[in-house]
Amino acid sequence: MLIQPAFPKIIDATSRRDYVSCPQKFFRSTIQKLALKELSTHLVAGGAYARGLEVTRKAYYGKGLPADDALNKGIEALWIAYGNHECPEKINKNPLRMVQALVDYFEEYPMKTDPMQPYRGADGEPAIEWTFALPIPGCIHPDTGLPIPYAGRFDMIGEFCANLYVVDEKTTTSLGPSWPNQWKLRSQLTGYCWAAQQYGIPVAGAIIRGISILKTKFGHAQVLCQRPEWMISRWLLQLQTDVKNMIQDYKQDKWSFNLDEACNQYGECPFMTLCESGNPDKWIDQYYRVRDWDPLKKNPEEDEQAILPPERAFHA
Ligand code: SF4
Repeated sequence: MLIQPAFPKIIDATSRRDYVSCPQKFFRSTIQKLALKELSTHLVAGGAYARGLEVTRKAYYGKGLPADDALNKGIEALWIAYGNHECPEKINKNPLRMVQALVDYFEEYPMKTDPMQPYRGADGEPAIEWTFALPIPGCIHPDTGLPIPYAGRFDMIGEFCANLYVVDEKTTTSLGPSWPNQWKLRSQLTGYCWAAQQYGIPVAGAIIRGISILKTKFGHAQVLCQRPEWMISRWLLQLQTDVKNMIQDYKQDKWSFNLDEACNQYGECPFMTLCESGNPDKWIDQYYRVRDWDPLKKNPEEDEQAILPPERAFHA
């Protein structure tokens, strides 16, 4: 089943995070493109919820539908995006619960009175579900000689208290007191700010909205993180260093193992089975699939809505 290992055409926040936490993890997930056969319910549910938010907002802010009609469209889209995935009993994220979460979100933040409204570009379209891909200065693909783009997608560019922010929505099981702290330095958000600024949108930072999904209730939290210029410059320098290190490892075909905390993050590293074995390749066919990884991949409807000024967009 293994495909020919290849350096990725695009780097995104997830592949960078994998590399800095454990180069071996990056090798498995991004160079070999492996993922567990069993889909993560958290990923399926989070993706479906994001789709529901996107469709609801586009229908209300973009097409001018009444809020209830827009929400109905969002619910339908969420249901379709969830698909046939079977949610285990112990996880509170079955499709019905995710629909209830979406309804609860718009009760907490009614679109008409939400103090955070979507930014509208020169064409008047709301900046919802924003996709970008921009060359990383000084980083050249080791096989093709082409620039390596940094790519990503975030939920919205929002206007809040006369400032612009990138907006990211997160689902979680609990919103404890430390929940806001994890975003203070989060590279993913700084990358979003860098990208927005490259497109001439002067964002001041990021707004992260979290919803906790429990069996009997939902919780909401919002955190605002500033991203001053020095922080964005530091982020870019670090990204360039990380990508150059990835290229060096790729050329040498040497991928270090963390063998520590990274192995137990988010429950358990998906490649634990391979690292626990003296003969990892024999387990690949049984537990892993080759994933269809492309951070820019969108369905045709999303293509229509994506904000990618042609003169700045870089297609790998
Ligand atoms: S199990 Fe640990 S060493 Fe192995 S890939 Fe995952 S993080 Fe790296």
